Amino acid sequence: MATAYLDHNATTPPYKSVIELVARVMREGGNPSAVYGVGRQARGRVETARSQVAKLANARARDVTFFGSATEAHATLIAQFASALFLRPDSEHDAVLNSRPGTPIPLKSSGVVCIESLKNLLYSNSGPILVAIMAANNETGIIPDIETISQLIISAKVNNPKIHFHIDAVQAAGKFPIDFKAWGCDSLALSSHKMGGPQGVGALVTRPGFDLQPIIRGGGQERRRRAGTENVAGIAGFGLACELTEDMDHLIVLREHLERGLNAINPKSIIVGQDERRLPNTTCVINPGMSSEILLMKFDLAGVALSSGSACSSGRVGGSHVLQAMGINADFARSSLRFSLGRETTKAEVDLALDAYRDICS
Ligand code: PLP
Repeated sequence: MATAYLDHNATTPPYKSVIELVARVMREGGNPSAVYGVGRQARGRVETARSQVAKLANARARDVTFFGSATEAHATLIAQFASALFLRPDSEHDAVLNSRPGTPIPLKSSGVVCIESLKNLLYSNSGPILVAIMAANNETGIIPDIETISQLIISAKVNNPKIHFHIDAVQAAGKFPIDFKAWGCDSLALSSHKMGGPQGVGALVTRPGFDLQPIIRGGGQERRRRAGTENVAGIAGFGLACELTEDMDHLIVLREHLERGLNAINPKSIIVGQDERRLPNTTCVINPGMSSEILLMKFDLAGVALSSGSACSSGRVGGSHVLQAMGINADFARSSLRFSLGRETTKAEVDLALDAYRDICS
């Protein structure tokens, strides 16, 4: 049976050369904290990857810390601001939302951050403030105006230097250029498995001089920022994925073919954020009167792997929290589907999904 994997925002199949490198590094063995040859070789693997991640993010290698996931990177950073006012839109990923209670930054109905509201929140509060904003939304693909947000925060820091700006770049990395320096942020989180690297590896980039505190205490790995023996092979694979990654603009043609097809098959379908700047690979579609769960099951039977939003939130009955944060009603939020294409997605796979949608809607 023909199949189509259209859930790359959940996890992206690793590059072949990444799989080969991971296997090679596992065979090499060695603990990077050991001083003899094999240990030094493992240390070299970790440090090469650190430079590769830093290059992708336009940051210094020494400001990159490896973690077991982007979730852990977020949790570590956010824990350090336990007593700060925590500002974040309700459309953030659960990795950020569930780390601790926060105050929502309102969104416009288009899904982008309301700059005026953020400005009011920044200027009407004093003391430590942590602002967390994603560089691209995992469900809708909507890209906020990071440059304007960054300028606003830089200006607000003149009055209040205790503002920390954190970016979740998990869905942006590998899809369009990310730039730690140009974005003027204080920290930025990345996830290997969203960009062709192995699962179970994340990174946090922090501004020079930032004293990141560990949440897991133990050995002195990662300059005492994250205890525990490094996942050397996974980290090496992540580094290589950073080097191999290229932007995904070529997917726009395929995404447009998909969106035109969905609207033609079901004229009631609504593409979320169609007029906004979006990731080239992501389509979130509302299917009025239909249930995401049932749609997903039917697509699965037709060999098409999709999701209704964040993989971590499947099974959530209330519908997409991202769509609800945009002011979209709960019924619509329960009817959404997310198609996320990958670098090797073919027109045949998209057509298979459209054929399945036609059968479901007929
Ligand atoms: N942030 C975003 C935007 C995500 O899409 C995800 C994963 O879905 C995460 C954070 C968490 O990444 P990880 O799976 O590495 O914990």
